[in-house]
Amino acid sequence: RAKRDGRGVYRFFEVQMGVAVREKRLLENDLRNALARGEFSLVYQPQVNVQSGEVTGFEALVRWTHPTRGQIAPSTFIPVAEECGLILNIGDWVTRQACAEAAGWANTVTIAVNVSPVQLHAPGFVARLRAVLQETRLDPRRLEIEITETALIRDLTRTIATLDEVKALGVRIAMDDFGTGYSSLANLRAFAFDRIKMDQSFIRSVDRSDQSAAIVRAVLGLGSGLKLPVVAEGVEREEELEFLRHEACAEIQGYLFSRPGPIGDFAAVTSGRSRSLADPLPVMRLVA
Ligand code: C2E
Ligand code: MG
Ligand code: MG
Ligand code: MG
Repeated sequence: RAKRDGRGVYRFFEVQMGVAVREKRLLENDLRNALARGEFSLVYQPQVNVQSGEVTGFEALVRWTHPTRGQIAPSTFIPVAEECGLILNIGDWVTRQACAEAAGWANTVTIAVNVSPVQLHAPGFVARLRAVLQETRLDPRRLEIEITETALIRDLTRTIATLDEVKALGVRIAMDDFGTGYSSLANLRAFAFDRIKMDQSFIRSVDRSDQSAAIVRAVLGLGSGLKLPVVAEGVEREEELEFLRHEACAEIQGYLFSRPGPIGDFAAVTSGRSRSLADPLPVMRLVA
């Protein structure tokens, strides 16, 4: 009986796996045509200085509007694109699009782009980055690439060399989702990061959890000791902002200030008319 149950469970997983594989193949097929059909777009999320309330930069986030299925989340299609190599073309498109957009802004607000480990490790990554910067005439100092710790697992020596070349272009490097990967502390010493993005899982309810509070304080202390500004991701509530401000966090990103949106939503900032977001409420509370 136990044996039969076991087989049943096994079959269940087999069927589930079959579905996952089929789903992945379908996605992969559709992804192959998505770029040419113009199905990708970028949304932008402001990064805000906690003290002044000013927007200092935007993170570009890719969106895929599937012709029949509508919006598909990056967490669903990026891993598929990484597996089949399409991430290289998609990533190039994202970088070019984001840099061209930022080059047209009336101020020197920065642009952050997520770079997949597959992109970073692909031959010619730095050369393509340089080409995009030349093509779009964006000042390299206004570009920041965000990489996660998974990018740092493989081939340490080559990764350090690649990141050094990126820095030599003048481009900044941020460690994304800090605290969720492997050997965070060793990575901070081995690589020349310019800032740390603290993962949103630690920010969530930081005012209500002693554990989260301790971790966030520790990361901010680390940042200050290493002279690396810390950006808190995923700030949704006033109480979280209050905590971060009290603990002298440099910058925040999150729904409390703004969800990611089409760049037109932020015209007040990108046109140079305003240094803070159109809705002054959270900012007023900041400086009050
Ligand atoms: P990430 O780089 O850590 O981006 C932050 C994610 O958190 C974004 O999700 C953003 O919309 C979301 N977020 C921002 N503020 C809040 C908040 O207050 N609350 C909550 N609950 N969420 C918030 P998104 O756009 O779905 O992207 C998910 C992940 O997909 C990104 O995480 C990044 O790893 C990846 N991704 C997105 N765009 C790109 C891209 O162009 N290239 C690559 N390689 N990866 C990308
Ligand atoms: Mg990111
Ligand atoms: Mg992140
Ligand atoms: Mg993430």
